[in-house]
Amino acid sequence: MNPIAPTSPADLRPATAREPAPRLRAFGSPQRYLQGPSALRELGGIVATFGARRPFVVADAVVQALLRGDLQGALGPDAHFAVFGGECSAAEIDRLTVQARTAGADMIVGVGGGKAIDAAKGVRISQPMPLVVVPSIASNDSPTSRIVVVYTDDHRLLEVRRMPTNPDVVLVDTAIIAAAPPRFFVSGIGDALSKKFEAAQCAGSGGNNFYAGRPPAIAQAIANACYDIIREHAEPALAAVRRKQPDPHVEETVEATILLSGLAFENGGLSIAHSLTRGLSIVPGVADALHGEQVAWGLLVQWVLEGRPDHFIADQLAFYARIGLPRSLRELGLAGDPDEAAATIAQDTWTRAPYVQALTTPIDRSRLEAAIRATRDFGSTAPGPS
Ligand SMILES: [Zn+2]
Repeated sequence: MNPIAPTSPADLRPATAREPAPRLRAFGSPQRYLQGPSALRELGGIVATFGARRPFVVADAVVQALLRGDLQGALGPDAHFAVFGGECSAAEIDRLTVQARTAGADMIVGVGGGKAIDAAKGVRISQPMPLVVVPSIASNDSPTSRIVVVYTDDHRLLEVRRMPTNPDVVLVDTAIIAAAPPRFFVSGIGDALSKKFEAAQCAGSGGNNFYAGRPPAIAQAIANACYDIIREHAEPALAAVRRKQPDPHVEETVEATILLSGLAFENGGLSIAHSLTRGLSIVPGVADALHGEQVAWGLLVQWVLEGRPDHFIADQLAFYARIGLPRSLRELGLAGDPDEAAATIAQDTWTRAPYVQALTTPIDRSRLEAAIRATRDFGSTAPGPS
């Protein structure tokens, strides 16, 4: 079984007369989500609410240098700070788990980017105690989810683990988010943009969400709101982040890139845009692009497969250009031959990606490759009307 799959590809097909078992509608989310310019100040109160005395903090050395003073003040003198090594591997999760046990931890606090947070989630799987997630960047949709992406020590995707429940609290301090390099913010926008379209394709093709259930109507509503907020607020928000002066547009956009984007993928399911990250991961150059950058390009391929009209694509490409999202494999970092890369990406995605068939129109490997090739000149297209 493909480890990342919420289901096998066969399960993504609509039920037939011979397979009448109705699936349950399933919805999940964190217990609490808090966001604002000084949200980190709430951490002490959260610890008190749970009655925790020995919080166990997972954060890398850079994040600790930046935030340790604030965290220590909120968490008290008995907090234990574990230095995350940089890769969310099985060995790293085991090492942190032993530390948490030895420290007598009664709460886990994961602080940082996706991998540090995932390592904290990895500890939580075997140590039943409250988990607080504090993202330091808004580069992808993972903070609210129960998914843990585990890599090998040489940085290849190994497996996906799941916590029994979503994080207890997700605490997003937008002053911290806005101070991070703008490229992360852009990546989060790319990751969020796709959810409306992926949820629609997943539900329309009878696919499952990440709770192995039928996506409920609220999932598409969340995904639609996510898209609308991004289109309305992302550009001024990005300008504010570049000025390092967070404003209400940043608040709106962060809610979309962290809360709505996360709820939308986990409850609405995924489709082509995320499937393509599989194929991209084995092609030099593009493999190193950020997750949200890869998803943004993958969404262009999905739109081609959906048969979107030229004016729709032109409008999106103009938006991508203004935000700084990649419109072609070249802009995503490809140095080699685009046709060769298209063949490799299509083949690998077709054989390995779990939601590649979550599409309402017919799909096969050659259609996928043709759609990838169709994005070849997108980067050189003059921006259309916005
Ligand atoms: Zn994503």
